[in-house]
Amino acid sequence: MLHKRCGPNTKAYKRAIKQLGNNNNVINSNGDDCQYVVWTPMFGLGNRILSMVSVFTYALITDRVMLVDQRNDITDLFCEPFPGTSWLLPLDFPLTDQIDSFNRTHSHCYGTMLKNHTVNSTTTPSHLYIDIFHDSRDHDKMFFCEENQAFIKNVPWLVVKSNLYYAPSLWLIPSFQTKLIKLFPQKDTVFHHLSHYLFHPTNQVWGMVTRSYNAYLSRADEVLGLQIRVFSTPAGYFQHVMDQIILKAVLVTSLHPEYSDELKNMYLERPSSTGEIIQVYQPSGERVQQTDKKVHDQKALAEIYLLSLTDKLVTSTRSTFGYVAQGLGGLKPWILYEPRHNKAPDPPCVRAMSTEPCSLKAPISACQAETIKTTPFVKYCEDRITGIKLV
Ligand code: GDP
Repeated sequence: MLHKRCGPNTKAYKRAIKQLGNNNNVINSNGDDCQYVVWTPMFGLGNRILSMVSVFTYALITDRVMLVDQRNDITDLFCEPFPGTSWLLPLDFPLTDQIDSFNRTHSHCYGTMLKNHTVNSTTTPSHLYIDIFHDSRDHDKMFFCEENQAFIKNVPWLVVKSNLYYAPSLWLIPSFQTKLIKLFPQKDTVFHHLSHYLFHPTNQVWGMVTRSYNAYLSRADEVLGLQIRVFSTPAGYFQHVMDQIILKAVLVTSLHPEYSDELKNMYLERPSSTGEIIQVYQPSGERVQQTDKKVHDQKALAEIYLLSLTDKLVTSTRSTFGYVAQGLGGLKPWILYEPRHNKAPDPPCVRAMSTEPCSLKAPISACQAETIKTTPFVKYCEDRITGIKLV
């Protein structure tokens, strides 16, 4: 309902756009005015989906309307989630040309304003750029402090760039926690519910999912998903990962086709120990990341969905691609550790505590350091001690 009242082409939207022309400061704000948070795509698809769910969580708690930058291939991947309105940021949005130049040196970057003491308590800026990355500065992390939110609350337009699932940090803001507890009595289902609400794959992507599922997975008694994300390839890496994943596998996703080829060969040469028939299927092996190429991204999204439809899931350490699959599927995966020191890790994997994605670099600044000690349902991640997650 909020989106319908405030979305693109409404009177409220046009009024809000006018604020952007007012010398960058808000004038005459009245109680009916709508407020917005703009999502922009950063890094790979997994990062994008995680930051989008985070922006949506923030929008829900703060009564803002989420609009998405549509200049990349978002419309090839997802349908509109809100009936009778649009979540796409109109292409003629007045700040469109500036969005790409928003970074930490920009005068409207909130962290930079705090650093330079240019935040003035008597005037409200019409817009702020919010920077939430794994390497954001302490001043950027102040976004997650109660008193800073009290200021930001009045700013009509926020533009967020992020590569993180920062929903867990929102739970560490006391007034937000009160609202979130009501919305999510079961705290480890935030991503699962919001991703199902928000993401509706386009027919092209859903076609890829159902064709693969019906042809290769639907008749198996048990489907095991195996996501192998390789971040570097020192000598011998392939064999170290293979040594980790000696198990019955059906669906393999990876940029590298060698993993499923080797598994297939293994079962061609020898039977499984239980005599079960093991079928190995890898939908694609794109070799290199090609984010923003339409069909590449569609295949990636289809594979994320396929992984989410498996009975048991194995994912790779610190991969947001795997995090989205586990969250969508409501699955607690076994997370493969990254091979180090030229050998397969022992143990090879760790079981996830919950289905929630890990917020890879928790913005635990001064204001959150105390809250985390008293918040039992936010814990450090299994695969990343610098990250936090809801459990
Ligand atoms: P992360 O880098 O593992 O955190 O995940 P991202 O999704 O953010 O970025 C990796 C990108 O590489 C994906 O979005 C895909 O474009 C590509 N990619 C990585 N692993 C796979 C895979 O298993 N299958 C496919 N189709 N693409 C992949």
